[in-house]
Amino acid sequence: SAGPSKVNVAVLGATGSIGTATADVIENLQRVDPQRNWRLWAASGHRNLDELKTISERFHQQGQPLQRLIFSSPEAISSAQAATRFADCGLSEHAFAFGPEALCAAASDPAVDIVVAAIVGRAGLESTLAAVEAGKRVALANKETLVVAGSLVQRIQESSRAPILPVDSEHSAIFQCLADSKAVPTKLILTASGGPFRAASVEQMQNATPKDALAHPTWQMGRKISIDSATMMNKALEIIEARWLFDFAADQIEVMVHPQSIIHSMVEFADGSTIAQLSPPDMRLPIQYALTYPQRMSCPAPALDRRKTYDLTLLPADQERFPALALGFQVAKSGGTSGAVVNAANEVAVESFLNEQIRFTDIVPLCQKVLENHTYDPNPSLTQLLQADRWARKEAQHCVG
Ligand code: NAD
Ligand code: MG
Repeated sequence: SAGPSKVNVAVLGATGSIGTATADVIENLQRVDPQRNWRLWAASGHRNLDELKTISERFHQQGQPLQRLIFSSPEAISSAQAATRFADCGLSEHAFAFGPEALCAAASDPAVDIVVAAIVGRAGLESTLAAVEAGKRVALANKETLVVAGSLVQRIQESSRAPILPVDSEHSAIFQCLADSKAVPTKLILTASGGPFRAASVEQMQNATPKDALAHPTWQMGRKISIDSATMMNKALEIIEARWLFDFAADQIEVMVHPQSIIHSMVEFADGSTIAQLSPPDMRLPIQYALTYPQRMSCPAPALDRRKTYDLTLLPADQERFPALALGFQVAKSGGTSGAVVNAANEVAVESFLNEQIRFTDIVPLCQKVLENHTYDPNPSLTQLLQADRWARKEAQHCVG
């Protein structure tokens, strides 16, 4: 149709830590890039309907009401309740959509240009696949999709040509290093803050409470990824994510601990030269880059402050205290069903730890055990991956007792 160009963004998982940061980024782009007419076209929420209301009101007040509002948990609200509760958000009667299928419908809607995949865990799989299949630009925060179904995503992307742009700060850093270089690196070096237990003893970790484990020193994030950071399972998932996103072999990926979270990752070339990306820890930068790539725009995330002193420490990762790392490399190497199995076991283990059913130091051994017990399939279909996921959840639940 005629008229000014528009960029319609669907944010799946809009009420979370990445989702709300994405709303800030879209609002910023409306200001700094007015020609392109950035729109929050669709937003989804699961249980946190107050936050969904806040976002809907915020964009309505700016004269740009959402075109689709997705309630992915049908138990959370009825359509009659939704119509009443969201009556003053400027929504059309066709804007309301319910259930997990509505996520896939929005992800592949012809009106949508960019899908921000910001749902946590395996719950984000189908809608992310739908976006890739529909050839959308996918700003990918939901790393679990690549962990569960990396080879499948690669195959679908080969035919749909959907650009997948990382939101995860480490992968955005590598992507930024690659975007500005003609040579192919020999190593990808992921940095890890080390989380709240970077310097803790095994005894301290054994006695860690959910509150201790949720207290991340440099990032404010959702609960699941915060626990993943404490076990360093997050880095394990990121090793697997990097393996599929950049199509690098597991032995070309390395990890270094960097407590300040300023160096977001690095690439090394054949001659031993290393290129890194630096910025203060703020997810709005990698989110915005995923939306505007290859362009760069003024961003609400702060740049380095030239009046400040920054210590930039790089340390080897301790695989003894953090056995998740070896597990990550193992899964990145074996592929097949192993990513789906470890991811599912980890989701159950994290939930069980948060409910105080298992100890912090039980999480990774539980994942290892479920992986050992599973029947490996090197080349699974989506159905087989979902089966492996279901099997691993049961097995993990069994281990929890
Ligand atoms: P969060 O817990 O803050 O938000 C999760 C979002 O997912 C919410 O909008 C929630 O409504 C939705 N959701 C939860 N369960 C759902 C279900 N069953 N079906 C549909 N939607 C559901 O999590 P977050 O920290 O924003 O993380 C989101 C994703 O981004 C994760 O995959 C995480 O690993 C990744 N990530 C986050 C950060 C960060 O700084 N927070 C950084 C890198 C990557
Ligand atoms: Mg990360």
